[in-house]
Amino acid sequence: MMDTIPEDEYECFECRVRFKERVFTISREWERVHFGQAIPEIEVVDADGLECYCSMACLLKRRDEVMAREGVPIPIRRPQIIPVEICAKCAGPVDMSEFHLTYLEDEAVHNDPYILRPIDVDYLAVVCRRCQPHEILQSTSESVVDFNAAEAKRDVILD
Ligand SMILES: [Zn+2]
Ligand SMILES: [Zn+2]
Repeated sequence: MMDTIPEDEYECFECRVRFKERVFTISREWERVHFGQAIPEIEVVDADGLECYCSMACLLKRRDEVMAREGVPIPIRRPQIIPVEICAKCAGPVDMSEFHLTYLEDEAVHNDPYILRPIDVDYLAVVCRRCQPHEILQSTSESVVDFNAAEAKRDVILD
């Protein structure tokens, strides 16, 4: 049994400390990119937080294990927001304008208890539709972090 955590607190999956306000997360989501504007728009559905942490240091300690559990290796060259990326599993093409599975880590802050705003997002891996057709995934972790990433439409700036 898990003990109850107050709604506005997180518990770090690595060091078990309780915290709020700033949260580091590894998550997977179905998303597609709308190109054709100066800043591509990312449409996110079915966002699923896998684990959350109190710090980047704790995230880094867990990252390999989390991705191993998902069966998705992190490529040496991380995915970017470009029209065609490379699948982390089969090395085939991923059409980024079609819904595809994306793994990412982010840092987010609560401006108020109910609004979580990402301030830094890094893509870990993308997976093509042959390796992972679009469906709602069963979570493999006991405790799924519920947060507002599903509603977030992120503006991603190309560099
Ligand atoms: Zn921690
Ligand atoms: Zn693939």
